Amino acid sequence: SIAYLNGEYLPLDEARVSVLDRGFLFADGIYEVSAVLDGHLVDNQSHLARFERSLGEIFLPLPAPMSRVEEIEKELITRNGVKEGVVYMQVTRGVAPRDFHFPENVKPTLLMFTQAKTIIDSPTAKSGIKAKTLEDIRWARRDIKSIALLAQVLAKQAAHEAGCQEAWMVEDGFVTEGGSSSVFIITKNNVLVTRPNSHALLPGCTRKAILALAAEKNIRVEERPFTVAEALDAAEAFFTSASAFVTPVVTIDDQAIGDGTPGPTTKRLREIYIDFARASR
Ligand code: PLP
Repeated sequence: SIAYLNGEYLPLDEARVSVLDRGFLFADGIYEVSAVLDGHLVDNQSHLARFERSLGEIFLPLPAPMSRVEEIEKELITRNGVKEGVVYMQVTRGVAPRDFHFPENVKPTLLMFTQAKTIIDSPTAKSGIKAKTLEDIRWARRDIKSIALLAQVLAKQAAHEAGCQEAWMVEDGFVTEGGSSSVFIITKNNVLVTRPNSHALLPGCTRKAILALAAEKNIRVEERPFTVAEALDAAEAFFTSASAFVTPVVTIDDQAIGDGTPGPTTKRLREIYIDFARASR
């Protein structure tokens, strides 16, 4: 697979970054992930806008204009023949002697690569997944898509060891979001509920699209925090992310949600999102 690193296209396993890169030493960087469907980027402007915002929040200048970043994304999709999968990109503050302050006159490191992945026919989209709740131990600026992902690594590993495929993170009894996803419930009186954006969670691009699509389809939406107890009592639950679209959640902490199978509104929203993704190119 071909990657892009600082102006060069090269095989991914030959791409090298210095051990003094601030991404390696401080996790001083930002990343972004866009889906590829039928060889085309999905909802990419939304991801580029979030990338730009996250970079701005940590005072990291983008090494190239966003239009150039999108060109590189497309070039990688073509070179790697990606039909379905993701494009990953990250910017770090660059290579400099280890010191906390921002170094002067360093060039940010820009890395981009693709990963093939089955999205539409993914088995978990059919079966739904099991989620495990865990305390959200992350920092106070989760709206920034930082490459510092240790809390998510630990949460998702604990979920994995419990036979679950996603971690649902909980703060003060309220669900914040998934380890790498936004989370939704559908109440027994058919209201789609998801937590409002704030510094407590990442503003999901898929989440944003789903809220707009649900409103268009006259599905009742409430953006408000919800508790684990309310989630366990919900009719349906699902998560969203660029790389998994809408994925049903059928158990939380081994308790069945609804009848323990993917719910009708979840399945409908997945289809609606797939249509949107195909049209968003
Ligand atoms: N929340 C977190 C913590 C994430 O890591 C992600 C995506 O990876 C999301 C939410 C979903 O965001 P998006 O739909 O933009 O992929």
